[in-house]
Amino acid sequence: MKVVLQNLTKKYPSRSKTSREDVVAVNDFNFEIPDGKLIGLLGPSGCGKSTTLNLLSGLQKPTEGKIFFGDDDVTGLPAEKRGVGLVFQNYALYPHLTVRQNIMFPLQNLKGEDKLTKQQMEEKSLAAAKLVQIDQLMDRKPSELSGGQQQRVAIARALVKMPRILLLDEPLSNLDARLRLQTREEIRRIQRETGITTVFVTHDQEEAMSISDMIVVMKEGVIQQMGKPQEVYDDPVNLFVATFLGTPPINVFDGMVKDGKLYIGDDAILDVPGAADGQVHAAIRPEGFIPNENGELVCSLSAVEVMGRDISVVSTHKASQNTVIRSIISAENTIDLDCDSVRFSVKPNKVFIFHKETQERVRFEIGG
Ligand code: ADP
Ligand code: MG
Repeated sequence: MKVVLQNLTKKYPSRSKTSREDVVAVNDFNFEIPDGKLIGLLGPSGCGKSTTLNLLSGLQKPTEGKIFFGDDDVTGLPAEKRGVGLVFQNYALYPHLTVRQNIMFPLQNLKGEDKLTKQQMEEKSLAAAKLVQIDQLMDRKPSELSGGQQQRVAIARALVKMPRILLLDEPLSNLDARLRLQTREEIRRIQRETGITTVFVTHDQEEAMSISDMIVVMKEGVIQQMGKPQEVYDDPVNLFVATFLGTPPINVFDGMVKDGKLYIGDDAILDVPGAADGQVHAAIRPEGFIPNENGELVCSLSAVEVMGRDISVVSTHKASQNTVIRSIISAENTIDLDCDSVRFSVKPNKVFIFHKETQERVRFEIGG
């Protein structure tokens, strides 16, 4: 089921004594979620992710704009009529019910021609439990399950009615690191198997990047950029998106463009034909540094961490906006630890420049 958000806006009245302006939690969202895809809504806490999800589910009403599921305008439709499955961070299971009863719960309220027999409910619950691989645990109570198992029950419960859309709000946040990895792969598998259009909300860029067909990066209620994870990583439109995506994070320097060259400090580190002269933020991905004894960028060496396949070089530079510069280079290189400094050249496609004030991307010709 395709989902379309059209001029979708949600304002909350101000609760602040100093400002009477409304909080615009979701500001004029326009995008289409293609049928059968998994979309990651990504941004820092408070950027409007949960509000967007609540608008899609029907738990909240938009101030302006419309939502379509396929060709149907569902904007005025109450949550229970939308055919959405919802999963939250705190699994919200009924503690006194068994796993089976928890999963079955949404089926028991079906009325009229949708009403199911006891056996049909059993079959559907078992099918949903099998999908998330908890069919061995049907008679347990939630308190007898691990966090990961509880979240699977919540996912099974959301799937049991075969929803048109599956909405997940930070579903992995309460799990430990290992379970988080495992469960996110599970969610991906289930989504692929069922083909249900899914919106996955997270503040964790790595999580969003790893499972989404498309990510939507948000900040303060405004969409910054959307696209395939790799495309957004490789081609950020502004400094916020560049710094939000990537581990280790991108390295940002105070820079300057003059006569088609990018300067960091006094050193011209890259030809940037087509970029206008002026002060800029110069951002270099960790994998964009090449150790080179004649390299243009000279940094003070702090530490070298060998990590098997790669070497992480930690250094500093007076124009760096980050406390330390982290570069990742192949372990085939050797870095002389006795040296105080390390020299790098840079990969042009791993260097982005942003306008000093607007922080918008400043484009240049690569290899021009
Ligand atoms: P996220 O899920 O990305 O952390 P939310 O959608 O929960 O963000 O919140 C977005 C903004 O809207 C925040 O500034 C938040 O304080 C505000 N907000 C959320 N819910 C309400 C509400 N019921 N009343 C007033 N302001 C709200
Ligand atoms: Mg939230």
